[in-house]
Amino acid sequence: MIEELSILIRLQEIDNQQMEIDEEKGDLPEQIEKLRIEIAGSKTVISEIEQRHLNNLEDKKRLKAELITAKGRLDRAQAIIFEVKTTREYDAISSEIEQAKSSIIDLERELISNNSLIEKSDSNLNEEIAKLQEMETEFKDRSTEMDSRLDCSREEELALKEERNKCLKKLKRPVVDHYERIRKIRNGIGVSYMSIDACSYCYSVMPPQRQAEVRKMADMIICEVCGCILVTEKDAPNLAFPL
Ligand SMILES: [Zn+2]
Repeated sequence: MIEELSILIRLQEIDNQQMEIDEEKGDLPEQIEKLRIEIAGSKTVISEIEQRHLNNLEDKKRLKAELITAKGRLDRAQAIIFEVKTTREYDAISSEIEQAKSSIIDLERELISNNSLIEKSDSNLNEEIAKLQEMETEFKDRSTEMDSRLDCSREEELALKEERNKCLKKLKRPVVDHYERIRKIRNGIGVSYMSIDACSYCYSVMPPQRQAEVRKMADMIICEVCGCILVTEKDAPNLAFPL
């Protein structure tokens, strides 16, 4: 049992080192992921604004053409109104002039509002592009920072992972399952040293008989309070056990 417990102690050390490395990385991975999502969102917004902008430009072209047509109608009607011979003809041309004038007023009004839409979509587009560029620069900076931090710890992490796998292979499945389950709920701790007469994780005091059993390291003893696998004191001589 001493060997199995020693492997568990080593496993806990490996996991502690990995936790330290993760802590050094801080929340950079989350920051990068958040930026990645925001950048994708911003690109969608930009393509929507671009589409709106194109539609507004198309509308402008159409309105201008319709205005030219209406003005042509007005010019033609005004040119012939005094040459008409009958009252009926005169009324028809007058009505044509009125209709053309009213179309021109409507079209000019529409063009003004279309122009303001174009200006708005143009400024929205510039604003969103500037925002996107800012986010892309930050994304690049954060990624570079992350890469350089990862470079420093990559080899160490690989070695830890390799050793961890070796440890896991030497342990029985239910033991590993228990260790992992407790780690999940105890801030990464699954193995707890005895500290004088108590569990060093939850500080619950053990009766002398149990202390003696833990010290012997002959059995897998679980802390009744926190569920950690108990091992003898950190500097106990029987811990100097070669793996
Ligand atoms: Zn405990």
